[in-house]
Amino acid sequence: MHLRHLALTNYRNYARLELALPLGLTLVQGQNAQGKSNLLEAITYLATSRSPRAGSEVELVNWLVRDEPYSYVRLAAELMRSERLERIDITLMPGKSNGRLRKQVRINGNNKRALDLVGMLLVVLFRPEDVDLVSGSPGLRRRYLDIALCQMESTYCRALSAYNKALSQRNALLRSLREKPHHNASGQLRFWDDKLCEVGSVVVARRQWLINELENVASLRHLDLSGGYERLKLRYLPSFDPGYQPDTQHNHYPSTDVLRERGVYYDQLPVEQVRASYTAHLHSGRQRDLAAGMTLLGPHRDDLGFYLGDRNLRNYGSRGQQRTAALASKMAEVAVMTHASGESPILLLDDVMSELDANRRAMMVDALTSVPQAIVTSTDWEHFNSELLSSANRLQVHGGQLTQVAAESQDLSGIAKR
Ligand code: ATP
Ligand code: MG
Repeated sequence: MHLRHLALTNYRNYARLELALPLGLTLVQGQNAQGKSNLLEAITYLATSRSPRAGSEVELVNWLVRDEPYSYVRLAAELMRSERLERIDITLMPGKSNGRLRKQVRINGNNKRALDLVGMLLVVLFRPEDVDLVSGSPGLRRRYLDIALCQMESTYCRALSAYNKALSQRNALLRSLREKPHHNASGQLRFWDDKLCEVGSVVVARRQWLINELENVASLRHLDLSGGYERLKLRYLPSFDPGYQPDTQHNHYPSTDVLRERGVYYDQLPVEQVRASYTAHLHSGRQRDLAAGMTLLGPHRDDLGFYLGDRNLRNYGSRGQQRTAALASKMAEVAVMTHASGESPILLLDDVMSELDANRRAMMVDALTSVPQAIVTSTDWEHFNSELLSSANRLQVHGGQLTQVAAESQDLSGIAKR
């Protein structure tokens, strides 16, 4: 996949950008607060129609035009996939209700739904906070799984958003029942239980699939990176056992704590089986949900564990071990997406080089040169060796303006050959 051209209007600090991008490596250098992260965020937004960091889309509108009546944000990409040229663009305009933005998606000039963007542009974004994938919060790890799955499978994307909606409805009902018990509570709850199980089971089954795929690649990458001999394991840590079979097993529900410690492993996890298990678990946990006023079981409580031997790296790993596992897993994301879609994703690295030691940096550089297109930001050219610098397309960003850096104009003499 090749992102050939990117155009931005009023996107954060980019009032106007027209940028041609070659295949291979593009390096973007800029001081703090010039627009490095915003650029990669914009590309990710085109791929997923979501910002990886903004809480609300209003944040994306350039401050200078936010209060103007006809202001809009536009992002447009031209890409080559399997030798075909595709154009996608997203426009955000003021909506009817105050403060909300309306999103218009176009593919090759035709109006489409945001879901139709799935799989058009594939990216793997690696940010400094992803270096803490292993030690960070469970939400970070769920997002890691979701962003990859949502780009590969529109059914997953649809199931996930339906799940989140059903979950907030069920939670609202549980809250109101806690305050004011109602004689028909179980009938009302059953409706949302069914909805939750129908779509939640898709989320769970696909997450287990992805974790297995990631593990296959990540464990190999990890051996390279660590020079060690211990195999890295990735384990699904769900809040209920998705493989539990209510017909054949009797009332033995492993506790969430037990699942959280060891995780589960299923080679195959049919959606129907997950659905039956989730239904049984929700049913048996209903009193606890009612007492808590919220849903305690489901993929919104999922986690992912990284193990060396039987040790969970989150609890027992050194900082270096945790980072190596995170790096191996991010690299695995590239490989799994390539394998599943037949297209290589664009690798976007936002200022992560400075977070890595020399050894891991060298591995990262290897990964960069092994994908067809990568865009890497950094505050310092010094984070790259001279060989890489001389072969890469180099840009400099200042105040939301990108300029091309000619190879000869950059004084490389001060940069040690590494
Ligand atoms: P760092 O090296 O510190 O990570 P960066 O180059 O990645 O810096 P960005 O996060 O891209 O910086 O932000 C660039 C500038 O854009 C910042 O000054 C930020 O405050 C500004 N900015 C953020 N949102 C908007 C917006 N909606 N309109 C205009 N400017 C914005
Ligand atoms: Mg940044």
